[in-house]
Amino acid sequence: MVTAKVWALKKHFDGLPKSSDFELKTIELPNLKDGRKWKLLLESVFLSVDPYMRPYSRRDMKEGDIMMGSQVARIVESKNPAFTVGAFVVAKGGWRTHFISDGKDLLLLPSGWPESLPKSVALGAVGMPGLTAYFGLLEVCKMKPGETVLVNAAAGAVGSVAGQIAKIGGCKVVGCAGSDDKVAYLKSIGFDEAFNYKTVPSLDEALRKASPDGYDCFFDNVGGEFSSVAIHQMKMFGRIAVCGAISQYNNTVPQKGTYVQFPMIFKQLRMEGFLVTNWYNRREEALKALLKWVVEGKLKFHEHVTEGFENMPMAFIGMFNGENLGKAVVKV
Ligand code: NDP
Repeated sequence: MVTAKVWALKKHFDGLPKSSDFELKTIELPNLKDGRKWKLLLESVFLSVDPYMRPYSRRDMKEGDIMMGSQVARIVESKNPAFTVGAFVVAKGGWRTHFISDGKDLLLLPSGWPESLPKSVALGAVGMPGLTAYFGLLEVCKMKPGETVLVNAAAGAVGSVAGQIAKIGGCKVVGCAGSDDKVAYLKSIGFDEAFNYKTVPSLDEALRKASPDGYDCFFDNVGGEFSSVAIHQMKMFGRIAVCGAISQYNNTVPQKGTYVQFPMIFKQLRMEGFLVTNWYNRREEALKALLKWVVEGKLKFHEHVTEGFENMPMAFIGMFNGENLGKAVVKV
């Protein structure tokens, strides 16, 4: 019998998530031999904390449920010939140290994963955030060489990959982030221009200075006021990939923004919301490309690793305060 630690959502978030919204519990997992055939026992090694958990918990969970989420997990016991003991998989097991699966939702790490590459990267640059950047830029923005691309929350899991894919694709890239250290990091990984959106006297001027001719593509992770300002600096026929709206996830009262119709019409812009899951039929192709770029050193990654399963809420909350540089993960 295995005892798993789990984090449950004690209370739906109201505003910025608080540690008291979570509850740490232990649960006994049934013995594998008592279950159906093909079952597996897994142990989480790295867990992911992601902004989507804030809005999706309200939509898809009830109080008392175990927090949603994915992890890199190791197979501890297997009655499924497709998964050998000791193999690592990406799973959607929620915030649990151990769990049982029938194998349906498990993905083995892409083939050719180098021994020296941390397996946690399967939750970041070569995982869901990397895929989001890949499809958002290549398919939603349809970026072309020579164009200028704007990325916000640029030092985060999705943004840092989006900016680097734009560079690989021959674009000029402007990134914004919330600290000077993050700005220095963006420059170190090849962003042409980067600034701290929290300290510039005027966002409008900072965007104009970074690219006086405006922007062809805008990979928007933030929404809200930032986007209301940035949309006016799009070039004719510009494309905006609406990836996320982290500036609004913790609002208790919906923000009122400026209206988008005038710049959309006069500049004939295209603005498209997207979910990465829509592109999962091409996941293999994209993971292969992302892994190749990482191995070749063309795609750099940074991880913000929080130690200890008991610190999951802290890691999650920290993301909304901008504590993470790169992908926020928790090491069990
Ligand atoms: P990040 O790693 O970028 O972490 C979040 C970062 O957002 C923080 O570090 C912080 O950086 C910034 N941030 C937090 N609050 C605000 C705010 N109020 N205004 C501006 N910036 C803020 O997260 P991800 O890369 O995982 O996600 C980025 C975005 O992409 C999110 O909006 C997420 O929901 C979205 N997403 C969408 C997907 C899709 O399928 N459409 C899939 C995956 C992610 P800083 O210090 O720079 O402020």
